[in-house]
Amino acid sequence: MKLVMLGAPGAGKGTQAKRLAEKYRIPHISTGDIFRSNIKNGTELGKKVKGFLDSGALVPDELTVDLVMDRIGQEDCRNGYILDGFPRTILQAEKLTEALQGKGGEIDWAVNVEVPDEAIVERMSGRRMCPSCGASYHVVNIPPKKEGVCDQCGAQLITRPDDEPETVRKRLEVYHQQTQPLIDYYKEKGRVLDVDGTKPMEQVFQAIVARLGE
Ligand code: AMP
Repeated sequence: MKLVMLGAPGAGKGTQAKRLAEKYRIPHISTGDIFRSNIKNGTELGKKVKGFLDSGALVPDELTVDLVMDRIGQEDCRNGYILDGFPRTILQAEKLTEALQGKGGEIDWAVNVEVPDEAIVERMSGRRMCPSCGASYHVVNIPPKKEGVCDQCGAQLITRPDDEPETVRKRLEVYHQQTQPLIDYYKEKGRVLDVDGTKPMEQVFQAIVARLGE
């Protein structure tokens, strides 16, 4: 099964993507995670993309498309994958469609997690992440057992620089301009599965599974 997660930053698509990946035993490919781990490890790619992530702008397509094409060509993606955070522009979606057509396939579903902007800003201000192992939390929705401390590795939790309110507003603007048009792109192909992302996490997950099948 090949899935694409659509939705604004902070809509909860990453959380759903992780659970879906476990359920369907396919890799979860998050371009944001890939970029962040490159930044953390100080790689060449990391140095090139850091400024874009910190300001909430999109990384240029030429740095993003090849990375994803290479990743989905790997052995563990043979039975499918979940793309989380890619495509984010029409050009990226077209490149993905072309690459899949070359292999006689296409995306099965684009799961569109819908959440209004106001709710997104509120949610993101509560988001915390572990700078050491990458685990994510939310002060209200997914609190760590001990406040401010990672359950998995004990490190002190932080607010991602791109979750700061000003950057969140910028990311939402970028989302509406560049990524929202993808909903129509996949709607024209009849491949969009809309879900109400304001519902509790478990309910959103069950709604998606009900549509995708066991
Ligand atoms: P995310 O964790 O998916 O919200 O991504 C965090 C940041 O990584 C975004 O704000 C962009 O700067 C960058 N990014 C992630 N995926 C893409 C993509 N497909 N195209 C361009 N930039 C991306």
